Amino acid sequence: MTARLRIAIQKSGRLSTESQQLLKSCGVKFNVNEQRLIAHADNMPIDLLRVRDDDIPGLVMDGVVDLGIVGENVLEEEQLERECLGKTAEVLKLRQLDFGSCRLSLAVPTEFIYGDASSLEGLRIATSYPNLLRRFMQNKGISYQDCQLKGSVEVAPRAGLADGICDLVSTGATLEANGLYETEVIFRSMACVIQSTTAQSDAKQALINKIMSRVNGVIRARESKYILLHAPTETLEQIVALLPGAENPTVLPLNDETNRVAIHAVSTEDLFWDTMEELTALGASSILVMPIEKMMG
Ligand code: ATP
Ligand code: MG
Repeated sequence: MTARLRIAIQKSGRLSTESQQLLKSCGVKFNVNEQRLIAHADNMPIDLLRVRDDDIPGLVMDGVVDLGIVGENVLEEEQLERECLGKTAEVLKLRQLDFGSCRLSLAVPTEFIYGDASSLEGLRIATSYPNLLRRFMQNKGISYQDCQLKGSVEVAPRAGLADGICDLVSTGATLEANGLYETEVIFRSMACVIQSTTAQSDAKQALINKIMSRVNGVIRARESKYILLHAPTETLEQIVALLPGAENPTVLPLNDETNRVAIHAVSTEDLFWDTMEELTALGASSILVMPIEKMMG
């Protein structure tokens, strides 16, 4: 019997729903029991380990699990932490995903006058990412004091614990609600899939390759649209040129019509309203933009 492939995903938090959804879209069937650490897939030799996101890079680095889905921010922080401790921190980053977008930024209270990063010289900065913060400040040659907090970093300045913060931001609404403003982006992050460097059996590696090829297909499909429209033959070329990332569209005749054709195209981007309006201005009609569920080859 071959050993089951172990994949670590976030138990509950910003990445958990999308991580589970991605695996389901790849054809992995499982049911999650909130109380359980492990979820067994019914149709493939795969086990999902549901853990705190902070634990995922370490579990992969130590070869406890084969794959992990985690934010690049958490991965990079753990790599720097291990380098500091002189421990091995190797993983293979298989690919970036299309969710979990955020940035690690420096932010200061609204009343703070910020010029550049040197405005922070000697100040206290609260963060859950001490290693990423240290790397940034060392590169700039700025000394500071760090105040390490696992959570509620954004309230530290108001609570008198710090002068500024280094925290994750996506919209900036949390910063604003706490009377802070963003001054410097120090790391941009997305979720990613990482693999352990521990040698895998051929069967396991084949399963990893299969899952990753499906992940590519799911993400390509999510980024693409299927476009159908009717176009006058005289503006055909201009219309095709307007379709974003659509190479070699299919052009089909329309019943009983000689001066109009149907165009079918797969576009690698969404088709925005402005482009649809430009297409209509060129005489295009019956424009349909449809989501694609799966793509391969
Ligand atoms: P856990 O209990 O698993 O440790 P957590 O509280 O550390 O959870 P979440 O807030 O769920 O983590 O965030 C998980 C990841 O989601 C982050 O590490 C980051 O990669 C990503 N993320 C995307 N947008 C944001 C955001 N606005 N704030 C925080 N994290 C974000
Ligand atoms: Mg965490």
